[in-house]
Amino acid sequence: MDCLFCRIIKGEIPSTKVFENEYVYAFRDINPMAPVHVLVVPKCHICCADAIDESNSQWVARIFEAIPIIAKQEKLENGYRVINNCGEDGCQSVKHLHFHILGGKKLPDQMA
Ligand code: AMP
Ligand code: ZN
Repeated sequence: MDCLFCRIIKGEIPSTKVFENEYVYAFRDINPMAPVHVLVVPKCHICCADAIDESNSQWVARIFEAIPIIAKQEKLENGYRVINNCGEDGCQSVKHLHFHILGGKKLPDQMA
């Protein structure tokens, strides 16, 4: 299976790593939408939020445990936004579950 984020996790495609542990890999978005724009992905191929169930939700927990660590590292003490785009209408472009951490400025309050 040719998945961009699986290849980034394996180091086959370069990325700017900001955090890594046994379960999670986080790296800078190539097209940042805010001064800090980090993508947090599980080291397990899950296509999207819609595929999360009892059998794999522990990956999501591991991601959300990593997020505050990353936020602290990135000095987002004034807050930040966590976004997941899912499927066609959510405009998900990479089909490997990922959460965007956006911050470093006051973000627009509009969601859509
Ligand atoms: P989404 O639209 O939610 O699927 O987000 C995919 C994100 O991946 C976009 O914000 C892209 O800018 C980002 N992206 C795509 N290719 C790369 C890459 N090689 N390295 C880092 N970020 C990437
Ligand atoms: Zn993948």
